[in-house]
Amino acid sequence: MRRSFVVLLLAALASWASPSLHAAGPLNIVATTEDLGAIAREVGGDKVTVESMARGYQDPHFVEAKPSFVIKLNKADLLIAVGRELEIGWLPPLVTQSRNAKIQPGGEGYLDASLTAKILEIPTGQITRAMGDVHPQGNPHYWLEPGNGRRIAQAIQAKLSALNPSDAAYFGSRYADFDKRLAAAEQRWDGLMVAYKGVKVVTYHRSWPNFAERFGLDVIGYVEPKPGIPPSPSHTLDLIQEMKRQNAKVILVEPYFDLKTPNSVARETGAQVVVLAPSVGAEKEITDYIKLFDYDIDKLLAAFKAAGVR
Ligand SMILES: [Zn+2]
Repeated sequence: MRRSFVVLLLAALASWASPSLHAAGPLNIVATTEDLGAIAREVGGDKVTVESMARGYQDPHFVEAKPSFVIKLNKADLLIAVGRELEIGWLPPLVTQSRNAKIQPGGEGYLDASLTAKILEIPTGQITRAMGDVHPQGNPHYWLEPGNGRRIAQAIQAKLSALNPSDAAYFGSRYADFDKRLAAAEQRWDGLMVAYKGVKVVTYHRSWPNFAERFGLDVIGYVEPKPGIPPSPSHTLDLIQEMKRQNAKVILVEPYFDLKTPNSVARETGAQVVVLAPSVGAEKEITDYIKLFDYDIDKLLAAFKAAGVR
């Protein structure tokens, strides 16, 4: 009894004496999305525990802020966020309420994964509400491109090694293994997609610019008039005209949008509607980052075939 008390006291003193050093045991990571969570698991292995907040089938712009998130954030050693204001509508009050100094923006336990990623659609000039509501700092859906997946993994590796230097070699070898598997998968995906370079598609939300650029698809329009603004009759008519003019035959839709407008556009244009997974966890079988692209490319190829594209 007495001895265990002394051990506890020593442990408490040790953690008091060196507050920035991580205590023994896995680092507690909270990721805002399942994509970031999945990549953190790849790099962190059994030296971390990972919880994700937004589910892969939810619109990450609009997530219900549950009290359980505050409890998780309170105990977190590291918070990983997508950034670019993707989570602006729900994350900041949770981080404040967590009363965890480490994970406040700028803290040693806060990682904005967008800082080292390739970001598209960064607005130039003055930003106004007329541009839409939800992408004021460039496109935040950048994780849908394997090169950015690799950059996110690299940033996580660096952060975990800084938080827990004694495991830096472990995180380094986990990263190297992920990088190798991702590179092999990219070769496979490129082989499958090479025949469809330049295919014209329409997407519901601007979720896919990085994906489209990487795999050579040409996005000619959107079901939403502007990011975060629901379809309007006049925009839908314009979209139908444009799809007919450019012979676009595939409409990509995220799982959290109503299919009514995409289906009616498809009826008018003879296009195929395909629901793709924007995130890990959008479907049960998508349990990691590589499986996300396996799933989407498989679905996309089936839609191209059904639409008679090439
Ligand atoms: Zn968005």
